[in-house]
Amino acid sequence: MRAAVQHETGQDKLEVLDDVEAVGFGPGKVRIRIRATGLCHSDLSAMSGVLPQPAPFVPGHEGAGEILDVGDGVTGLAPGDRVLMCWLPACGSCPSCRRGQTHLCLAGFMSAGTPNFKRPGGDVFGFAGTGTFAEEVVVAANCAVPVPDDVPYDIAALIGCGVTTGLGAALNTAEVVAGSSVAVIGCGGVGISTIQGARASGAAQIVAVDPVAARREAALRFGATEAIAPDELGDAKQRITAGEGFDYVFEVVGKSATARTAYEATRRGGTLCIVGAGAMDDFFQVNMFELFFDEKRILPSLYGGGDVVRSYERAIALWRAGRIDLENLITHRVPLAGINDALEQMRTGTALRTCIEL
Ligand SMILES: [Zn+2]
Ligand SMILES: [Zn+2]
Repeated sequence: MRAAVQHETGQDKLEVLDDVEAVGFGPGKVRIRIRATGLCHSDLSAMSGVLPQPAPFVPGHEGAGEILDVGDGVTGLAPGDRVLMCWLPACGSCPSCRRGQTHLCLAGFMSAGTPNFKRPGGDVFGFAGTGTFAEEVVVAANCAVPVPDDVPYDIAALIGCGVTTGLGAALNTAEVVAGSSVAVIGCGGVGISTIQGARASGAAQIVAVDPVAARREAALRFGATEAIAPDELGDAKQRITAGEGFDYVFEVVGKSATARTAYEATRRGGTLCIVGAGAMDDFFQVNMFELFFDEKRILPSLYGGGDVVRSYERAIALWRAGRIDLENLITHRVPLAGINDALEQMRTGTALRTCIEL
């Protein structure tokens, strides 16, 4: 079957090959025919080496498709079922799961060091243990979450990562309250989802901050009350909050420099929510006086910071009710053969989300 493979970390192009085989099918596993997969910024970060990932590998972790086959012992799933991929499934029994923090479960993620594919040249890994830039994947059954028939594959795919991450930051982690002031730094697919979450929560002001004009224009369509370039943030803070700072600031870039900007834009006692996925050698600095005296809450948010299956259901409910727009989050569509165009659209900031149709 076909898959897009990165041979070595640091390469900026993928090779679409037709000699790849999904491996590991057996008890407790399912085989999925991927129908749609989103290109998430984390895929680029894994390709460049910002996020750790063994190579060669198939990127992609935001996918949806149909079940082809179920292994022994799998219950609740059958061939033909429509599912989205959860790249961080909860085991239900580890200490994190027992405390109710199922999004911190690492039981499923530990298998990310096992090859998911093979080809005549040898083993191939899947990004984050999935690898959805492929026609077929084999994953643990709890990575396959059924989706209702009225949710198209492309939208289901986005709910599998970017939408859940962005909405969850606003709704689960920061718990944005009605009437509050919000700034969102970084307005790609995840940042736009955070904006939609803040709007659904009833935030009074939602300021979108992004250097790319096309993203600022998009942010306004998705609920931002204004959209500004990064160098205008100081003025906006002065004008909107009388210099005090925003009640909530979301950093959706994953860099210490933007996190520091976000910290400074947060009011005393307000919430800085870190959503972007950053590098292990990039350090965020806060001095001990401001940390104590300003009492700003620094809340990181991983994969939406809550029970992911409940978060998926909530995203579907909000989308059905017309309270969030997911169709227009997909700005570009390409076949798997066009994967390198999709990477370029993401790097240049012209795409909110590119959907790869398989
Ligand atoms: Zn667990
Ligand atoms: Zn992602």
